[in-house]
Amino acid sequence: PLYDALFAPLAGQERPFLILPDGSAVSADGFHRMIARFGNALRAMGLAAGERIAVQASKTPQMLACYGAAVATGAVFLPLNPAYTADELEYFVTDCGARLLLVDPDRVAALTPLAERLGLRLESLGPGGSFDALADAGPDSLTPEPRGPEDLAALLYTSGTTGRSKGAMMSHRNLLSNARTLVDLWRFTEADVLLHALPIFHTHGLFVASNVVLLSGGQMIFLPKFDIEQVFALLPRATAMMGVPTFYTRLLDDPRLGRGTVGHMRLFVSGSAPLLAETHHAWAERTGHAILERYGMTETNMLTSNPCDGARRAGTVGLALPDVDLRIVDPETGAELAPGETGMIEVRGPNVFQGYWQMPEKTAAEFRPDGYFITGDLGVIDDQGYVTIVGRAKDLIISGGYNVYPKEVELVLDEMPGVLESAVIGLPHPDLGEAVVAVLAAAGAGPDPGAIRAALSERLARYKQPREYVVLPELPRNAMGKVQKAELRKTHADLFR
Ligand code: ATP
Ligand code: MG
Repeated sequence: PLYDALFAPLAGQERPFLILPDGSAVSADGFHRMIARFGNALRAMGLAAGERIAVQASKTPQMLACYGAAVATGAVFLPLNPAYTADELEYFVTDCGARLLLVDPDRVAALTPLAERLGLRLESLGPGGSFDALADAGPDSLTPEPRGPEDLAALLYTSGTTGRSKGAMMSHRNLLSNARTLVDLWRFTEADVLLHALPIFHTHGLFVASNVVLLSGGQMIFLPKFDIEQVFALLPRATAMMGVPTFYTRLLDDPRLGRGTVGHMRLFVSGSAPLLAETHHAWAERTGHAILERYGMTETNMLTSNPCDGARRAGTVGLALPDVDLRIVDPETGAELAPGETGMIEVRGPNVFQGYWQMPEKTAAEFRPDGYFITGDLGVIDDQGYVTIVGRAKDLIISGGYNVYPKEVELVLDEMPGVLESAVIGLPHPDLGEAVVAVLAAAGAGPDPGAIRAALSERLARYKQPREYVVLPELPRNAMGKVQKAELRKTHADLFR
């Protein structure tokens, strides 16, 4: 199903599909032929449908073509962050039982011992790579492997923000249903040119961005990473951009951003981490565009979105997608809560994954008997259906028996002079169980914790006020711009001991 919808339509079309930073383009037909060659190479290696192909490589047209080739031959595509070390890689390839690992040519020497030890076939991807050579020797057309909607298309590991990454099994139906919904909702057509500066080892850049463009017949400006010079150089050719909040804050920091540079754009989408309302407002004032914030996760694809027409509400992630059932429940009892009450976000729909790879107990624990998936995110829904993410259940602080939602405290801290942004965490405390601690990223001359302490005593109940303040030059973030609270908790674990 995915091949027919996403990749088959590229055949025979001379229009550009990927526009590269140097201004050259890979045509739709050229990309289709690359997929066919790669698919034939996979078959020549004896890879059967259902087997996993791990790809840890730079973001190139070749890397994206591996996704197409896997779908074409029925293999399960498993992209991995190029930043992972050999040790980290070992966990993923062992866990998923991959038969083939594709890497950048300059990584082959370092990874050969690992591949030999695990009996894993290692090939290099990209110009001059051994995989490309094999592919170039074969034909550039292929008959796709028949697949059904329930067959797996990809195994995508979660970001590992709250613990070890888990492999989410995504079926053809999971991916295709969500792509269809998003194309419709966000009005993508063949006239669209998406500025694509996200990584493609993560659901945002791989499925949300690429699948939407493939399905709508549009083009992508395919940048290896977010490079502000390249972004400004190529924005004039784009109609839409999808980004993480840090893309938007970095663009706002640049004096070139204004109506002149982005006035012609149709759509700006943000996700993967919370977009501060302040960023939304600053963007609207400078550019005249309301950033459309949406929410989703590896396991479920996208779940909610602000509307294309209608109010895009700053600080909210919008409404449940048309085919997504979303409810807010009491995390303990599972009872559905009324609008305005904060609880666990649970979801059901054709987009929700098939379970965690080789973790049947964990999978069972994350689903309710009626089929709803327990997202692990806390949120609140208003009477018009707009959802606000309050934070992750694992980040909830229980201090002296009281629940403290970090976001409520962070919103107040972010307004304080000298604070660029904040992360509120709970740390082990002998009397309170957990104590509230504020980690502040300094702006300018930096914050004055004494003054902040005094100001907060007027604004927040005593149990919500931080016991300690830690000031850092910046908050630790991963490649998707997510603040690494688990890392902060670990680093400062002994603050009260
Ligand atoms: P792990 O599950 O391994 O701990 P992770 O949850 O960060 O890592 P992803 O699947 O990449 O892995 O991220 C999904 C999470 O990102 C969501 O559960 C939610 O907490 C957060 N998220 C995504 N979009 C938004 C958004 N617009 N606002 C706030 N949070 C968001
Ligand atoms: Mg998660």
